[in-house]
Amino acid sequence: MDRVRGRMSELGVDTLLLSHGADLPWLTGYRAMPLERLTLLVLPLTGDPVLVVPGLEAPRVAATDGLFALRPWSDAEDPIDLVVDLIGDAHGSRLAISDRAWATTLLALQRRLPGAEWIEASGVTSPIRAVKDADELAALRAAGAAADRVAAVLQSGGIPMIGRTEAEVSARLGALLVEEGHSAVNFAIVGSGPNAASPHHEPGGRVIGRGETVVCDFGGTLSLDGGPGYCSDITRTVVTGAPSDEVATCYAVLHEAQQAAVAAAVAGVTAASVDRTARDIIEAAGLGDRFVHRTGHGIGIEEHEDPYLVVGNEEVLVPGHAFSVEPGIYEPGRFGMRLEDIVVIDAHGAPESLNRADHQLVVIDA
Ligand code: ZN
Ligand code: ZN
Ligand code: ZN
Repeated sequence: MDRVRGRMSELGVDTLLLSHGADLPWLTGYRAMPLERLTLLVLPLTGDPVLVVPGLEAPRVAATDGLFALRPWSDAEDPIDLVVDLIGDAHGSRLAISDRAWATTLLALQRRLPGAEWIEASGVTSPIRAVKDADELAALRAAGAAADRVAAVLQSGGIPMIGRTEAEVSARLGALLVEEGHSAVNFAIVGSGPNAASPHHEPGGRVIGRGETVVCDFGGTLSLDGGPGYCSDITRTVVTGAPSDEVATCYAVLHEAQQAAVAAAVAGVTAASVDRTARDIIEAAGLGDRFVHRTGHGIGIEEHEDPYLVVGNEEVLVPGHAFSVEPGIYEPGRFGMRLEDIVVIDAHGAPESLNRADHQLVVIDA
């Protein structure tokens, strides 16, 4: 909270308002359910923070450790009145509100506080959230190791594929994520054959055949201490039967690009330069137009957060940054492949891969 207040003062923010989204659990340990009823932490630059919370949700707020006061509201009250009272005279002040707050919350507050200027809370929180502390890194390592154990089952043929639907394989991956310690499954993408060319394919009723690439991209949230938890995210592509020469050649390019980008992710370089490293290798192989997304995204309490490894992001990487490195090659209507690890910049400025599952194109024969 001290670091958040320091950043508020740098940005001239008088009050930070946190509703749904990852900032609130990151700062307080309490994750608000995305209900229509208002939950809002009112954190003034000076003075005591107050969590305005629906009365029936108040029992879910664990010990506040004196960090903030609790103001439960009943269904007979208007929570916007409470918040407006807590903010006080907002004329000419700058307020920051959760990127994921409901539009109805912001619009109601804007009508009541016409003299205030509004910015996104991420302007305050994101640069702090992006640099993980030791506890956060431990949580990310545990989540990464759990995802690796699921990948090992997949790559050893422990999940039958041929003749099964994508949805069945996805359900199995999700169950394994939970068995290995995740408290929630965030996604388990399984894209087979032509569907593998759609990076965020929704696994469905397609039956997986022989000789197809199958992109498996899965992750969940794992909590070491009963707190809100940190995310895993890994992609391994497998092939059901021996790969064609074309698939094998593309995979060799993908593998080289991914490993080169991981090695390039050292302290002091820009996020864009890591994207460039992967892209250069794929472009040199004549496949540049088949790599249709950024190279990676930050990860932490949220599965996608700063820093993004993308063209134009001149942000410099520093120890504590955690992000995915996940180039892909997609041939529309035919096949696709992606290879993804989570990488952390360690205290010496070197890349530490949190995922070590086999990087080769593994053949699944059943
Ligand atoms: Zn994705
Ligand atoms: Zn992923
Ligand atoms: Zn990812």
